[in-house]
Amino acid sequence: MDFIIIGGGAAGMAAASKAKRVNPLIDVTVIEAGPFVSYAECGMPYYLGGMFEDYSKLLHYPLTEFTEKRKIKVILNESVTEIDTSRQQVKTSGKKVFSYDYLLISTGASAVKPKGISGSDVQTIRSLADGIALKPEVEKSKRITIIGDGVLGMELASTLAESKKEITMISHHKTLFKRLDEDVGQELLKEFESKVKVEKNSELISVSRSDGEFKVETTMGQHTADLVLSATGIKPNSQLAFDAGLSLGKNGAIKVDNQMFTSDSKILAAGDCATSLNKVTNSEDWMPLAQISNKMGRVAGSNVGGERMTFKGGIGTTLVKIFDYEVGFTGIDSPTSTKYGFAPKDIFVKAGSKAAYYEGNSNAYVKITYDSHSGRLLGAQVVSKSNGAWRLNTLAEAIYAGITMEDLFYSDLGYSPPFGPVWDPIIIAASLGMKTRA
Ligand SMILES: Cc1cc2nc3c(=O)[nH]c(=O)nc-3n(C[C@H](O)[C@H](O)[C@H](O)COP(=O)(O)OP(=O)(O)OC[C@H]3O[C@@H](n4cnc5c(N)ncnc54)[C@H](O)[C@@H]3O)c2cc1C
Repeated sequence: MDFIIIGGGAAGMAAASKAKRVNPLIDVTVIEAGPFVSYAECGMPYYLGGMFEDYSKLLHYPLTEFTEKRKIKVILNESVTEIDTSRQQVKTSGKKVFSYDYLLISTGASAVKPKGISGSDVQTIRSLADGIALKPEVEKSKRITIIGDGVLGMELASTLAESKKEITMISHHKTLFKRLDEDVGQELLKEFESKVKVEKNSELISVSRSDGEFKVETTMGQHTADLVLSATGIKPNSQLAFDAGLSLGKNGAIKVDNQMFTSDSKILAAGDCATSLNKVTNSEDWMPLAQISNKMGRVAGSNVGGERMTFKGGIGTTLVKIFDYEVGFTGIDSPTSTKYGFAPKDIFVKAGSKAAYYEGNSNAYVKITYDSHSGRLLGAQVVSKSNGAWRLNTLAEAIYAGITMEDLFYSDLGYSPPFGPVWDPIIIAASLGMKTRA
């Protein structure tokens, strides 16, 4: 059986490896547009920030792990340009034709440039090849402008500011980092704005280059920079699928069922290019995140290999380090909950992140959104200089399991002074939620 995989990122290589493990007799071929497979996109901000110099640290495995050990055929620097569903064939940029019994589309997502901006004056970061090309530019630049205040923009700004760059951030929002509510983000954003020059409520008009520097024009004025980076969002790479007549879903991602099959029974899709089930709303969503992509890839590979696996859904858990803060959100917020027919209530708690007497104790900001009828947790946001990541992941697990505020209150979490106060902020929030339930 021929299993062709388009794209050798997280989803593609997880699928290839799983299919081979389940059924070593399958011929698996990965066709990858770039020069690398299976690497840590998520590590690129730290590579660019100078935490390490050797990009090969971002490669999860040497290529031979796949080609020799796992017996997966890998074709690099070749793009699939067309899928012919009637002949069950794909055509590539190198004019090659591959026939498939099953095809996986795992083409990831692309960075979207700010409106009206094209060309190379504004750089985006998506692939490792982008990162390698950008590294010397970042190193020689002192003043870097970042457009966009989403997760990647905030992460890049803090990482590059920590490596002594002067960062200007341009955001078209009134307050930065919209995914966090103002009460949760208050201290973080105050510190962020003391370290990064922030232009809020500002739209980019143009970027031009002269005498080796960039002139950046926005609705708020003009400034010069040595480098301009854009982090204004991504879109699923679903054009190939669309051209082949496959159904698209949320945000233009390729519509898949919970076994990763598309509207064509011989074609699967997984990762950032595909839709996935949101377990809180029980509806189709698009969650372009690393863990979800890996798992979708594994499910796809297993199903092609002949061992049924079902993707049970995700909740969009996102963690990021911004300066010294552990920041995260998961599930759905109040406005989204209302749209999906819940009766949401928010509990916000600001309390110590460690025992009061313990060195390094600081404020932990926790917000839990829950359904006031059932008590079920729906979403959470956490900001804290210490012990933020474990709290967010605990809440993610609680939301994923569908438990109530009362269940959370009685959850028997471990306690020790360095890791939290005995009445931890998440337990305080749960106790308040229990009391205020409708
Ligand atoms: C800078 C950065 C930081 C991130 N940080 C985090 C994080 O901290 N946490 C988190 O959860 N997620 C993070 N992500 C997102 C995460 O990396 C992605 O969700 C994940 O890599 C998606 O995996 P994928 O296999 O769907 O796509 P990718 O890993 O992007 O792989 C898709 C591959 O398909 C190839 N391709 C595309 N079109 C074709 C074609 N026509 N023919 C052949 N090959 C093709 C591409 O070259 C690419 O290699 C980050 C992403 C970036 C860019």
